[in-house]
Amino acid sequence: MSRIDLHLHTTHSDGSFSPTEVIRLAHQAKVTALAITDHDIVSAVPEAFAAGAELGIEIIPGVEISSRLGNSELHILGYCINWQDQELNQRLASLRESRHSRNPQIIERLRSLGLDVTYEEVQDLAGTDSVGRPHIARVLMDKQYVTSAKDAFDRYLAEGRPAFVSRELPKPEDAIAWINAAGGVAVLAHPTWAKVTGEGLNTLLKTLKADGLGGIEVHYSTHTKRQTREYLDLAKRLDLLITGGSDFHGITKPDIEVGTGRGGLKVSENLLDPLKKAAAQA
Ligand code: AMP
Ligand code: ZN
Ligand code: FE
Ligand code: FE
Repeated sequence: MSRIDLHLHTTHSDGSFSPTEVIRLAHQAKVTALAITDHDIVSAVPEAFAAGAELGIEIIPGVEISSRLGNSELHILGYCINWQDQELNQRLASLRESRHSRNPQIIERLRSLGLDVTYEEVQDLAGTDSVGRPHIARVLMDKQYVTSAKDAFDRYLAEGRPAFVSRELPKPEDAIAWINAAGGVAVLAHPTWAKVTGEGLNTLLKTLKADGLGGIEVHYSTHTKRQTREYLDLAKRLDLLITGGSDFHGITKPDIEVGTGRGGLKVSENLLDPLKKAAAQA
C-alpha cells in the first residue's frame, strides 16, 4: 500500500522548503498524494500542482488555521478547498494581518531582553505574508542567539516564555465554517493540542462535529501508538474521517521528514478517497 502525507508546510508559510522542493522530497519518499497545508495562506497551490504533475504526485489543496478554545489552541486543517474562493482568501488575509500586529510585539520583547533583532529582518527571511514564530526562531538561530528552533521556543517564544505574545484567533467553529464554505473538509490537527483525552475529547469532537468538523488527524509524526489507537477509536465511534500527515517544516523541525515523520509514520492512500468523496458532497 503506498503512502500519502496530508500535512506539509512550505516557504509560503513557516516551512523552509519551497513547494517544489517538498514535492521532490515526497517523490523520494514514494509518497503518491499529498496536501500542502500552509498556515493562513494558499499561495503555494499553483506551484504545487505544477510540481505534482511533473512527478506524478496528486496534490490536495489545503490550509491550516489556528483557532482558540479556552486555553487550548486547536489547529483546523482544510482539505480539498476551493483555494481561489474569495471569501476564504479574505478571511486568511485578515488572519495574516493579526500575525503582523502580534509579531512586532514579540520583537519588542526580544529587544528588551537584549537581543538585536528587527521585524524587517524577520519579514525578509520569511519572504511571505504569513509570518510566524518559526521565522523569528530562524533569525535567532542565524544570529546564534539560540542553537535550534526548539531552543528559541523553549527560551523565548513558547507560551509562558518571556517573549510570548498571543494573537487574536478565531473560534474553532468559525475556522470550520470558513473551510466548509469554501467547499472543503475540516479536520482537527494534532489532537493532543486539545489538552483533553477520553470522555473530554469525545465531547469536544462531538461539539466540533455538530459545527461541521469532518475528520481527525489520527496519524501524526509525534503520536504514540496509544494516542493513535485512541484517536482511531474516536474517529470510528463518531463517524469522523481519518487523516494523517507529518507536519513537515524543514529546518525548524529537523527530526520530521516528508512522508515518514520520525521514521514510523505511514499514512495509507486508502484514506484519500473518503476525504475526496466528503468534499464532493460538501
Ligand atoms: P505561530 O503560527 O506564529 O503562532 O507559531 C506557531 C507554529 O510554530 C506552530 O504551528 C509550529 O509550526 C511551530 N512551533 C511551535 N512550537 C515549536 C517548537 N518547539 N519548535 C519548532 N516549531 C514550533
Ligand atoms: Zn507551522
Ligand atoms: Fe499545527
Ligand atoms: Fe502544521
